[in-house]
Amino acid sequence: MLPIPPDRYKPPQSRAAQAVRGSRALFVGCVAAGLFVGCGTVPETGRSQFNLISASDEITLGEEAYAEMLKGAKVVTTGPDFVRVQRVGERIAQAAERRYPNAVKGFEWRFTLIESPDVNAWMLPGGKSAVYTGLLQVATTDDELAIVMGHEAAHAIARHGAERMSRGVATQVVLGAVSATGEVDPAIVQATAVAYGALGETAFSRSEESEADEIGLMIAADAGYNPTAATGFWRKMSAQGGEKPPEFLSTHPSDEKRATRLANLMPKAEAIYRERTGVSP
Ligand SMILES: [Zn+2]
Repeated sequence: MLPIPPDRYKPPQSRAAQAVRGSRALFVGCVAAGLFVGCGTVPETGRSQFNLISASDEITLGEEAYAEMLKGAKVVTTGPDFVRVQRVGERIAQAAERRYPNAVKGFEWRFTLIESPDVNAWMLPGGKSAVYTGLLQVATTDDELAIVMGHEAAHAIARHGAERMSRGVATQVVLGAVSATGEVDPAIVQATAVAYGALGETAFSRSEESEADEIGLMIAADAGYNPTAATGFWRKMSAQGGEKPPEFLSTHPSDEKRATRLANLMPKAEAIYRERTGVSP
């Protein structure tokens, strides 16, 4: 039931129980009225979500988690792969700014390329993201890379990690995640990295993966990348496997379900692509 398994997330013991009571009251109010503080709406899908962490606090947490993630990582800053990730990333960022200006307010996009055989990518709150060189072996076209980078951007835009922390065992601490002076709790920084799939194993649920697929598909189409690449790409990804499956594989629905969902979304994505590029996908 707990969104973040207790063995992976250990909240500090020092926070007040008062915050827990406060969050429960918020949750009840949220359900009853639908517009209290703590309620938000996911762009594109229109889903209501309960979120105790403010967007600006979440961005602070994302920046801290990003700095932690890059410690010891082999960051690539030149060469064709680097240029490719910047090229696709910038268009993804522009499309997200166009489509969801409110949801990406305060984002300072960063598309880091990390030398690693892992077939993986992630984006933290605030737009700080990483693509691993192993992923580029699978996402061989820019259309495919845009599908996966759009998907990662979607998790950050939909604030899936903050929502998860707000619902779960971390509730008692998230209210004080960032102090008035901007200090952050290292445990929550770590929880943020876990919640966005940057650290450890898969963090997202199937429904979050589905939502990220949907939002990501529209972002990629709006960025001028062919959305029809998605179905074949995800199928190719699911053939990867390995001991440490990337965040977008271990909980996602079966190939068939994912293909059906994508087929249902495709007319909308194709229309966005046509409008953006003037050509049919
Ligand atoms: Zn995902």
